[in-house]
Amino acid sequence: MKIHEYQAKELFQKYGVPIPRGQVAFNVEEAKSAAAELGTLPVVIKAQIHAGGRGKGGGVKLAKTPVEVEEVAQAILGMTLVTHQTGPEGRLVRRVLVEEGLAIEKELYLGMLPDRSSARVTIMVSEAGGMDIEEVAAKTPEKIIKVQVDPLLGFEAFQARQLAYGLNLEPDLVKLFVPMVARLYKLFCEYDCSLVEINPLIITRDRNILALDAKVNFDDNALFRHKDILEYRDHDEEDPAEVEASKYNLNYIKMDGNIGNMVNGAGLAMATMDIIKLAGADPANFLDVGGGASEEMVENGFRIILSDPAVKGVFINIFGGILRCDILAQGVVEAAKKVDVRVPVVIRMEGTNVEKGRKILEASGMNLTVASDLTDAAQKVAAIAKG
Ligand code: ADP
Ligand code: MG
Repeated sequence: MKIHEYQAKELFQKYGVPIPRGQVAFNVEEAKSAAAELGTLPVVIKAQIHAGGRGKGGGVKLAKTPVEVEEVAQAILGMTLVTHQTGPEGRLVRRVLVEEGLAIEKELYLGMLPDRSSARVTIMVSEAGGMDIEEVAAKTPEKIIKVQVDPLLGFEAFQARQLAYGLNLEPDLVKLFVPMVARLYKLFCEYDCSLVEINPLIITRDRNILALDAKVNFDDNALFRHKDILEYRDHDEEDPAEVEASKYNLNYIKMDGNIGNMVNGAGLAMATMDIIKLAGADPANFLDVGGGASEEMVENGFRIILSDPAVKGVFINIFGGILRCDILAQGVVEAAKKVDVRVPVVIRMEGTNVEKGRKILEASGMNLTVASDLTDAAQKVAAIAKG
């Protein structure tokens, strides 16, 4: 799960990680009073969306006078902000962070994320802050310094020094930097984060270190033990179909193609998407209804796929194991009764109770094409794609 910058900064504050003074605002009036409360100028007004690259896209602006505060807040609130992370359609800005404008001496980078190959949290820093870290990694990988934290030993002092020296910090700044990273690591572990990123981490002209930007992502599977984080969830930033799917515990991700697909098991879902591609079409979604899906889950999954206007056909590919084929068939039939199935549906299923499942589908009178095997299914899906 993703959260906004101002929410990530609230967490930083809770852990004693220094941040600029600031306040969130939902409208121009709130932005004006936030700036007045800060009692300092200039302020920086920052669009709050779940995507980076806001600065370059025009979503982070300086306001030097109270009049400018109003003008800038007016311009950013309600704008459709396009950044390299939002895609061309952009994102509507509904909140801004009003923050004290700081005098920046240097912009650094700090990132923390689990490294799958070593199964450890990797902390990386770079002197090349404020720019795209992917670009730094591609062009000048030597500018990125990494340490891996042993989960039993925790983040150790020598590792903190390794990072600090890698950043060429002077002794007065090392003293501020070391405890700050230790606190971030504590936050990372205690909240089951999948990413903590500060870009830029700044050194101010009065020689302080602060998190000027803040990005924190959480492992969805651990959210049940972080109720306070759930309150940070902003449905406006999520795809409505994905929000709907999450209500039924469905693993659904919207994609750009036009062939909807419903599959059980993530591995089979990936293979099915490959098959759709191989057939010359593009998947409209990833959907894993799960091994032990109920009739209701199948019904909702099918309904959610059909609600996507881009979908020109649906491919249901099920291996009946714990999810029996008759349960699947019943779910599809129930969903078809409730929504208008306006597109062709190809279904391929094998496994437990497959005969019973086929009979349910036949008896339903639904307009379904039953595929005998995967190759056959692929050809039928290709036919749909060609119209
Ligand atoms: P994004 O990464 O989405 O572009 P950032 O929060 O990193 O957004 O802001 C972009 C740039 O704006 C920063 O690199 C920094 O130069 C400037 N900036 C952001 N916040 C402030 C602030 N409070 N004071 C001064 N400059 C700021
Ligand atoms: Mg940034």
